[in-house]
Amino acid sequence: MKELFLIVHSLCTGFYTTLKHVFRGPATELYPEYKRPLPARSRARIILTADPDGRERCVACYLCSAACPVDCISMQAAENPEGRRYAAWFRINFGRCIYCGLCEEACPTAAIQLTPSFEHADRDILKMVAEKHDLQVDHCGKDQNYNFYDHAGVADAIRPKGGHVNESPPVNVRTNMP
Ligand code: SF4
Ligand code: SF4
Repeated sequence: MKELFLIVHSLCTGFYTTLKHVFRGPATELYPEYKRPLPARSRARIILTADPDGRERCVACYLCSAACPVDCISMQAAENPEGRRYAAWFRINFGRCIYCGLCEEACPTAAIQLTPSFEHADRDILKMVAEKHDLQVDHCGKDQNYNFYDHAGVADAIRPKGGHVNESPPVNVRTNMP
C-alpha cells in the first residue's frame, strides 16, 4: 500500500511540474523578430560625436588610442587654419575591439562613445575596419551639452578657469560623463 502511494505521489509530482511549465511563457525571445531595447549605456558600436554647434569633437589627442588595451584605434592628427586639431583620418578595427569602453573613459572631449548598437558582425574581417566617415555622427550622443572648448580656458590674474566670456566652469570630474 505504501509503495502504491509513493508511485502515485511521484506521478502526480511529475505531472504537476510539467503542467506548471505548459502555462509559462517562453524564456527565450525570437531574435531578430524581437529586439530587446538595451540601456543607453550598453557598450557596442563606437561613434565619433559632434559638438552642440555641429563641429567634430575629436581633437586627435591619441588618448583613446593609448588607453585601448588591444591597440585597435589609429589616427593621424592635423591642424586646421584656426589652430584647432582634428583627425585627418581615424580608424577602428572592430575585429579586435573588446568593447571595454576604456577609449570613451579616456576621451577628454566626449568625442568617442560606445552605443547599444551591436549588429555589425561580418564574415569578412576587412569589413570590420571602420574609417572616420563610418564612425562620425551629426549629434552629440550621450552628452547633449558638453563642448570641450567651453571648458578648456585657463585661469589668469582676472578670472578663474572657465570664468571668461563664452566659457563654462570646469566639469565635475566625479560625474561619470563630462
Ligand atoms: S572599446 Fe576598448 S577595445 Fe574597443 S576601441 Fe575602445 S578601448 Fe579599444
Ligand atoms: S576620440 Fe577623444 S581621446 Fe580619441 S583622439 Fe579624439 S579627442 Fe582624443
